[in-house]
Amino acid sequence: MQYTREQICTELVEIAKRFAQYGWLPATSGNLSIRLSEPSAPLVFGVTASGKDKVRLTKEDIVFVDAECRPVDPTPLKPSAETIIHAKLYEATGCGAVLHVHTVANNVLSELYFRQRYLELNDMELIKGLGIWEEHAGIQVPIIENYANIPKLADEIVNRLELRVPGVLIRKHGIYAWGNSLFEACRHLEAFEFMFRYQVTYLQCSQAFALGN
Ligand SMILES: [Zn+2]
Repeated sequence: MQYTREQICTELVEIAKRFAQYGWLPATSGNLSIRLSEPSAPLVFGVTASGKDKVRLTKEDIVFVDAECRPVDPTPLKPSAETIIHAKLYEATGCGAVLHVHTVANNVLSELYFRQRYLELNDMELIKGLGIWEEHAGIQVPIIENYANIPKLADEIVNRLELRVPGVLIRKHGIYAWGNSLFEACRHLEAFEFMFRYQVTYLQCSQAFALGN
């Protein structure tokens, strides 16, 4: 799907408000982007600027950058340091939108399963939300160390991509999820986060159940 600049600004402001209401963008964290350029053209994408309260985001808080994360227009806005991860994901996957949010569930699971470097999700209906339709499907969501060096983190994310899994977890940090359009990226992210909340709740309940028996 091809978006105009105006559409990108409108869509990013709306989706940021929605995710902020879910509590997925706490303390001005997280960043969301949509690709402007055609897949065959040099990369340009619109991304939420650094340090903004996402509930109060406006169209003026969206910055358009190139593959090196340099603003393509004169702007006082600073793209977030994490914008380089968006750029690498666009180039590696050819996707149309990238969403990065921090939730308690994705942080807890990324730490609990860090030793094996992936989180396994099996046989859940919402795996279909990731576009995987086989019966009893199982997937492994990669978990990456939260390197302070963002270019290193971006390279590690790209090295660990699982082609059919449209997301990666960063240890005690958050998730990056993507899709061909904003609609698809949102569906992926919401499916992941539902399954993460399930997994955390299941672990808590099964422990309480075991203690009670
Ligand atoms: Zn982050």
